[in-house]
Amino acid sequence: MDERALQLQERLSAVRSRITAATRAAGRAEEPELIVVTKFHPAADVERLAALGIRDVGENRDQEASAKAASLAQLGLRWHFIGQLQSNKAKSVVKYAHSVQSVDRPQLAEALAKAMLRAKDDNGRADLECLIQVSLDDDAGEHRGGAAPADVERLADSIAGSAGLRLAGVMAVAPLGARPEDAFDKLAGISAALRRNHPAAVAISAGMSQDLEAAVRYGATHLRIGSDILGSRPPVG
Ligand SMILES: *Cc1c(COP(=O)(O)O)cnc(C)c1O
Repeated sequence: MDERALQLQERLSAVRSRITAATRAAGRAEEPELIVVTKFHPAADVERLAALGIRDVGENRDQEASAKAASLAQLGLRWHFIGQLQSNKAKSVVKYAHSVQSVDRPQLAEALAKAMLRAKDDNGRADLECLIQVSLDDDAGEHRGGAAPADVERLADSIAGSAGLRLAGVMAVAPLGARPEDAFDKLAGISAALRRNHPAAVAISAGMSQDLEAAVRYGATHLRIGSDILGSRPPVG
């Protein structure tokens, strides 16, 4: 193992301990799934993480994700797309993504469904898991993206009604400057409302490096952890 791999192993183990402690403190039987967010870090780091047993990785830009996924195809990783996505990138994203966690508007759901028709013909891939990104900002949420809570139901129906897409649940980023507990409590309520008509949409993707404990407390099924494992991101150049 090289020095970087040892560093990743150490940080991964610290994050896993936090998840275990938070799960126990919340009185939950099962730990949420860990998605390691590898954006801005090289494919070599993803390879080191795979050697440490990581299977699920998150990326937020198609150009970067598609290149990494192609160069690491032999590792059998599951790629989760977690960033703002333009509809014209749908065709590219469905070539490698296991899930898109940032579905925030019907046009994007339509573009993904259309791209999935082609992808299924080409390679018979499994349905694309779609999570609805919900904005938890009070002020219309333009900062961190996502659908307004009032639009979730309609978007859910459109995803659930599309061949090739599987409605998996909801995703959110806690707003800056607010208590993450309040945000994740609100997200839990939105998830419960969604499950009334879509009982299989159980996923709650919440919690990042800074707020994973709060997310676990409020029922997160998936955590998206980047900087506490990989270190701070290099400046965008
Ligand atoms: C970058 C990112 C993360 C990871 O955040 P860290 O603070 O680095 O753990 C999680 N979710 C989304 C949507 C992101 O863009």
